[in-house]
Amino acid sequence: MLTNDHLDAWDRDCFFHPSTHLAQHARGESANRVIRTASGVHIEDRDGTQLLDAFAGLYCVNVGYGRQEIADAIADQARELAYYHSYVGHGTEASITLAKMILDRSPSHMSKVYFGLGGSDANETNIKLVWYYNNILGRPQKKKIISRWRGYHGSGLMTGSLTGLELFHKKFDLPLAQVVHTDAPYYFRREDTNQSEAEFVAQCVASLEALIKAEGAETIAAFIGEPVLGTGGIVPPPAGYWDAIQAVLEKHDILLIADEVVTGFGRLGSMFGSDHYGMKPDIITIAKGLTSAYAPLSGSIVSDRMWKVLEQGTDENGPIGHGWTYSAHPIGAAAGVANLELIDKLGLVENAGTVGAYLQEGLRAALGAHAHVGDIRGEGMLAAVEFVEDRDDRRLFDPARKIGPQVAAALLEQDRVIARAMPQGDILGFAPPFCLTRQDADQIVAATQRAVETVL
Ligand code: PLP
Repeated sequence: MLTNDHLDAWDRDCFFHPSTHLAQHARGESANRVIRTASGVHIEDRDGTQLLDAFAGLYCVNVGYGRQEIADAIADQARELAYYHSYVGHGTEASITLAKMILDRSPSHMSKVYFGLGGSDANETNIKLVWYYNNILGRPQKKKIISRWRGYHGSGLMTGSLTGLELFHKKFDLPLAQVVHTDAPYYFRREDTNQSEAEFVAQCVASLEALIKAEGAETIAAFIGEPVLGTGGIVPPPAGYWDAIQAVLEKHDILLIADEVVTGFGRLGSMFGSDHYGMKPDIITIAKGLTSAYAPLSGSIVSDRMWKVLEQGTDENGPIGHGWTYSAHPIGAAAGVANLELIDKLGLVENAGTVGAYLQEGLRAALGAHAHVGDIRGEGMLAAVEFVEDRDDRRLFDPARKIGPQVAAALLEQDRVIARAMPQGDILGFAPPFCLTRQDADQIVAATQRAVETVL
């Protein structure tokens, strides 16, 4: 019989975990936990301990755990047709239906969906499509990609480069030369505290313009951004930011990629972040919420204007030389269809908006006056609490004190609530499943208040 000791030994000796301190884990020092089952907003470990998952896994189990409808759809699909590829025009009922359902929900200027497996590979696809597009248009020098500091777009070679967080570059020889970074729209961390939001947006625009001028607009292909910065700290943009940025991009004929891996399919209380902020992207990246992580699946939704050029490209050059074995995997597609149906049936996008706002209000009421809480922010079912040494000058704690991780650990130990200590800065992030109730939100708020009081 498989004992906990066996599992622990195999885990230490055999399993290379992502985003983990490998040496600490191998020495048995990391806070690992083996999860056995889950239902709704709760997960349960192998010892029977129940935890309220206020981060929906990695902000992906949007409909909540244990949904029978999705499990059945996956099982039915596996029995009926576990796999067939989508190369040279092949498809399955599930993948074709899902493409239609995605476009029915997308901004009206979007044209087609390319399917991948996860957010990183979808963004790799996007950059290849942007380069292909410019080659077909006869401007091979227009290839650089602008991303933002604190953006997160994956951890592949190109996507790790696009990501604007030091941890993902350090010792990996990233970023690659084709990527340049511009300012994060992080109003709370502005240098000049007297600056209004409008002045701060003007500064972001000026620094983008300066970057484009320095690099040469003729060398820049695209700008990639998450509607709300996620892993970089859960930072909604200041009012008017996306309008102002899009005006600059249009002026210089630079494509916009909206990375909606976190925001797509309802997390902001709107189907897409692009709708929420009036963005008109050329490509939208989707992943996590597409299947609520019941199976790996991602997508690149491309606009009419890009699609026309891609078609022209294949007329001139033959089939597009891009594809994964598992593109549009039928099991992922079946999970996606069942997931989107469930989101509609249960009104989960609306719930993400209303209960998300309730959660943020609760956090503000409980912690807004705390001496070491500098900012409480969010949008829809995304929220963050940022800790500071001093509220008046927004001075940061010494990073060695690891205040964010300490609060997250206290929250887990004392009240069994999972929030995420974001990787850069002392920021506690919340991204619960959309089926969160007001009662769950009250529990998260009370537990967070207790954890903050324990640590600070
Ligand atoms: N883009 C965004 C906005 C993300 O948050 C993530 C993952 O968190 C990714 C891309 C990468 O997705 P994946 O981890 O599925 O490769």
